Amino acid sequence: MAERYGGGQGRRYGGGGGRGGGRKPEPEPISGVRDEARLSSELLRMDGASYGRYKSLKGDWDFGDFTLTVQRVQSDPFAPPSRVRVLVPDTGIPKSAWGDPVRRRATADYLGRRARRLLRGSLLKIDTGGQEVIERSSCQLTDGGIDLRIGIDLPGHGRRIDGRTAERELCRTLPDLVDDLDWEEIDTEEAVAFADTVADTVALRAQLAERNLVAFVAEGAVLPRRSGVSDEPMTRGAVPFSPPESLRVSVDLPHRGTVSGMGVPEGITLIVGGGFHGKSTLLHALERGVYDHVPGDGRELVVTRDDAVKIRAEEGRRVERVDVSPFVRNLPTGADTSDFRTENASGSTSQAANICEAVEAGSHTLLVDEDSTATNLMIRDERMQALVHGDREPLVPFIDLVRPLYREHGVSTVLVMGGSGDYFDVADQVVMLDAYHPHDVTDQARALAHERVDADFTLPRARVVDPASVDDTTARGRGRIKRRDTDVLVFGESDIDVRAIEQFADPGQITGAGLALRELVGGRHMDGARTLAEALDSLDEALGRRGVTLLGSDFGGDYVLPRRYEVAAVLNRLRALRVADLR
Ligand code: ADP
Ligand code: MG
Repeated sequence: MAERYGGGQGRRYGGGGGRGGGRKPEPEPISGVRDEARLSSELLRMDGASYGRYKSLKGDWDFGDFTLTVQRVQSDPFAPPSRVRVLVPDTGIPKSAWGDPVRRRATADYLGRRARRLLRGSLLKIDTGGQEVIERSSCQLTDGGIDLRIGIDLPGHGRRIDGRTAERELCRTLPDLVDDLDWEEIDTEEAVAFADTVADTVALRAQLAERNLVAFVAEGAVLPRRSGVSDEPMTRGAVPFSPPESLRVSVDLPHRGTVSGMGVPEGITLIVGGGFHGKSTLLHALERGVYDHVPGDGRELVVTRDDAVKIRAEEGRRVERVDVSPFVRNLPTGADTSDFRTENASGSTSQAANICEAVEAGSHTLLVDEDSTATNLMIRDERMQALVHGDREPLVPFIDLVRPLYREHGVSTVLVMGGSGDYFDVADQVVMLDAYHPHDVTDQARALAHERVDADFTLPRARVVDPASVDDTTARGRGRIKRRDTDVLVFGESDIDVRAIEQFADPGQITGAGLALRELVGGRHMDGARTLAEALDSLDEALGRRGVTLLGSDFGGDYVLPRRYEVAAVLNRLRALRVADLR
């Protein structure tokens, strides 16, 4: 069977030969003129040949207007799709659409979505986003041109090449796509409006800090989603957001002009209200408010500081040398809680570690929902204190630390808590949701508040990661980085459980975070001397300069830009992780 490959040209690739034939030899890439006409005739000629012949397509093909590069070819029809790259140097996109980084990202996103629509029903597949507009590898703008990374299930009749279909896809559908993405062909008004929306969101978020706000929710915003499994807006029965007058703020935006909405001030904000009155929906919108949304999402003008991190309990996670001493004083095991390691954290210690790690990574905005917290880390009421004395309870509850976190370290918290009034004691503002309408009930809550003595919050010690512990993991697994659904990131030999990392807004960010771990070590950002926060700064700086493709120029799949907080979260859940030093 081996003779069928390579068309008799002989030279063998792959290391299997020496051991008596593990891998099949790969055919030589087609040589000579490699233009559109040649590709067409080669594909038609391959019809009926053994599937492995597809590998001879590898390399560049000159289509005149664009270059098609066949990067990876699947070895059988059931393997993951093959990968091609389409580089169009000039599609007539004016500089106004790509000149600044925000518009460049938005226009690329718009064109990617258009490409997906145009490719509907084709074997060519392009990765695009859901409700968020995040930089991704699949569609990049060059200066006036476009750079697409596309997957294709190369067609076969069983193990034989279906050359006619392949020819149709690569030599007709693809050039049509390129034509249809030309600026002359698209609805430029819609494209510009898309970018305007994103630019307004970015401008709005940029104003939060100077106004001492951690979040803003515009009047009329639609927060609820269609269902628990759909991120699209609820269409029927959605109650639009109406800001309470006392928290109303107006903001000027470059395109939309003046908009008004609820400003969530820095400090401690409590969201209360009866069950099913929309508390978690509001918090969820704030979690996603670190990202920009597509026009029509309903949350285009719902923004949160870009350092906001959702905190939750996560029983069973690993913790590697985290200083959780503000929350955990003396454990029954006698372990040093300023250098805490466990293979199996409890609900409370996992949540404490999540908070300390978020602060370590640089977050100054914590988002917390009672639905996913460990009660014993949140509150301890008087009766429990009377029964279990201070010296028997190692935990310092969050309620005693949330004020020092803000006053001494500038870390704000937005907290949903419908089940206990204890947080009235520490809240700066209290918003009550009543049938999805927010009311400012700060004064009433304050009248019910008690005096409370705060505990001390000393910033957790900074960790220096041993880069070899990360590198080894991929090296031994030969660099495998793969996402299994939205549950697991396969990183070399490690399976990282990412289910509790709630601010991955796009599955591609999970892959992106895996690639970012690799880059942290490979790009020497994490060099065994820098702290984790310094390493993340260095990576952010490089990503800002080079863009998302810094992460995976050699990677045969789609990926999306992750935030530093999710990169840190993935690293913190790597079971092989070793921290070399605490500062
Ligand atoms: P809570 O956390 O207060 O118990 P949720 O935020 O989980 O409540 O919301 C309960 C239900 O109400 C969900 O099905 C959600 O989709 C719906 N909902 C939330 N906000 C709105 C709104 N503004 N308009 C209509 N339905 C909403
Ligand atoms: Mg809830």
